[in-house]
Amino acid sequence: MANKRSFTGGATVLIVGAGPAGLVLGNLLLAAGIDCLIVERADRAHVERRARAGFLAADTVRALVGNGLGTGLSARGRPHDTCVFRSERGEFALRYGGLGRGEAHTVYPQQELVADLVAEFLRRGGDLRFGTPVTEVGGLDDDRPWLVALDADGTPYRLEGRYVAGCDGRHGVCRKAFPAAAVHAHRRRHGVSWLALLVGTPPALPAVTYAVHDRGFAGHMARTASVTRYYLQCEPGTDPGTWSDSAVWEELDVRMRAERFGPLRRGPVLERAVVDLESDVLDPMQYGRLFLAGDAAGLISPSAAKGANLAVMAAETLARAFTAALHQGDEEPLARYSATCLPRIWRAQEFSHWMIGLLHAPPGGDDESRFLRALRDSRLESLRTSPVQQHAFADNYVGI
Ligand code: FAD
Repeated sequence: MANKRSFTGGATVLIVGAGPAGLVLGNLLLAAGIDCLIVERADRAHVERRARAGFLAADTVRALVGNGLGTGLSARGRPHDTCVFRSERGEFALRYGGLGRGEAHTVYPQQELVADLVAEFLRRGGDLRFGTPVTEVGGLDDDRPWLVALDADGTPYRLEGRYVAGCDGRHGVCRKAFPAAAVHAHRRRHGVSWLALLVGTPPALPAVTYAVHDRGFAGHMARTASVTRYYLQCEPGTDPGTWSDSAVWEELDVRMRAERFGPLRRGPVLERAVVDLESDVLDPMQYGRLFLAGDAAGLISPSAAKGANLAVMAAETLARAFTAALHQGDEEPLARYSATCLPRIWRAQEFSHWMIGLLHAPPGGDDESRFLRALRDSRLESLRTSPVQQHAFADNYVGI
């Protein structure tokens, strides 16, 4: 293991970003006795309140629990094994937990997971600097890469390490530090946007419910006993502030077909944001001594709830690779880091893309829109009727 004192202001592994990727990586490195430091742009309260994901795959739960990071989710997470689809033709439930590999999700809000991971990192004696944006990453071709971070007064200071882990999300500085010629970016804008809502009511329905409607997709997802996430497909470029609470509930009632299937529980809209469904994958995820993990390495649309799960998977893979390099002098797992992660990332991307086609189709009266709507309906019908499709769905929906 490298000696911390050989670096001036730094650590063996410098981690940028305290989201799920950076915090899982940091905790695993500390557990392996590897000196690391996390620098995070936002303050602690912001990071611990940022509501995003909620559905953790069985492999993610295994990784967290197996590494002593699952106390909160084991105590407060709830198993979830069924999803429901509604359309003009009616409603059907798919109990994916009894199909495929027979695995379920655990519903546990991302902000609670992040708060648990922060607490555990600090409990293990970790150095976590909130309110510390990184402005520059360099020295990647050398054996002493560095970061420039700003302290609380905005004064820049330099941190040096042996490796840098870019876990700073899609808008972070780390992915921008790759020389253009060293990486291929595969990108797709799906032309679909969702109004992402958090409402202050208990879940109205017993399962995740996807409503396919010619006015646009609507979704219901449990979060906690008192908060539920809803999605409403909206026009790209929509200002979320233009959706009043009453407009939200009226539209949800129509698309979720409340008249037919029962009312939703109305309550205050606590948060509204517009999410454009976009995907990108960077290949490779490594340049020199910089390794990307989570959204920094690739963004995935939230249609199949994969992003946080991929972030944990990459962080665990990277932690193992750093451990092999620093403890055994074996650099092979680090050299293979991209090759190990990318097939799983592409499989999740493929399924997310398939889900977008399952849930959306353009509303127009032109030939192509009608064709795409008929494809969407046919895809839904084969999911309703074909056991082979249902098993494949289950494997992809909950697997990673
Ligand atoms: P982030 O969580 O984005 O963390 C990156 C961190 O880096 C942030 O804390 C940021 O402040 C920090 N940072 C950025 N720039 C800098 C800088 N220059 N210096 C220092 N720090 C910096 N995924 C699922 O698996 N299931 C779901 O159900 C799901 N639902 C979602 C719903 C919504 C509305 C959204 C938006 C996303 C959802 N996701 C879901 C995706 C999931 O939230 C992300 O994939 C996940 O947060 C990625 O984790 P990360 O650690 O890579 O990045």
